[in-house]
Amino acid sequence: MTSTVSVENNSMESYLRVDRMPHIWCAGCGIGPAAGSFIRAIKRSGVNADTIALVSGIGCTGRVAGYIKLDSFHTTHGRALPFATGLKLGNPDLNVVVFSGDGDIAAIGGNHLIHSARRNMDMTVICINNFIYGMTGGQLGPTTPLDARSSTSPYGNLESPFNLINLVSASGATYVARWTVMHLRQLERSIAEAMSKPGFSFIEVLAPCPTLYGRMNKQGQGVDQLRSYQERCVVRNGADPKDADIGLSGPIIVGKFVDTNRPTFWDYHTKMVGKAQGNR
Ligand code: SF4
Ligand code: MG
Repeated sequence: MTSTVSVENNSMESYLRVDRMPHIWCAGCGIGPAAGSFIRAIKRSGVNADTIALVSGIGCTGRVAGYIKLDSFHTTHGRALPFATGLKLGNPDLNVVVFSGDGDIAAIGGNHLIHSARRNMDMTVICINNFIYGMTGGQLGPTTPLDARSSTSPYGNLESPFNLINLVSASGATYVARWTVMHLRQLERSIAEAMSKPGFSFIEVLAPCPTLYGRMNKQGQGVDQLRSYQERCVVRNGADPKDADIGLSGPIIVGKFVDTNRPTFWDYHTKMVGKAQGNR
């Protein structure tokens, strides 16, 4: 989908494809507020909206690419990252943002996730983690906490979940943060920071799915889940990613875990091309 944001009209509405409303998200879903933070972050970062390419995979979160009026691509399941990589290599001037869910990014797309981080591919990944496959019926996903119920784990999950913060940090990401949709200001600042920084940036956003995860785990409505984020979250910038596990209950560490610099894939590519052409 191709669209240009009117520079004269920089309102929230000017970033939305209002002709596609009403959206499909349930009442109390956390995806919409996170998308709002992303739009505000574009304005905060000063990045020219016409240079942004927004990519998503499949799922409830994947709909973000369709609702936000940027050059956006709704790709196949799990393939948002390779698609985004192709865009970046085809046009290094693009500011590439991937906005997708935990199932899409860390399950079928999990291999792409670790290799994009390893290559330090220059892009920003915003991963909505609602601990479950939303659109397809509430199945167990790679971040579902131990003992949590889902449509495919009616007696509780017996698989250890990924700690996404630790996974992407260990794989080489140069910016790693986690917030919830109770922390919209911090999230906005993090997204703006990540978009302004070269290298692979990953921001995990915890968001309620009251219809499936919340209902199956007796966590109440969306607002009740927000209250639980307020009670459980501890802001610890610079915390060790290994400490960022998330259980069914207990504290959740949020904040900025990693903010470092190392050459990006494009830096190495440029050097290699120069070498091949005999420049050095
Ligand atoms: Fe949001 Fe869950 Fe509804 Fe999907 S199923 S729109 S993730 S609340
Ligand atoms: Mg999900």
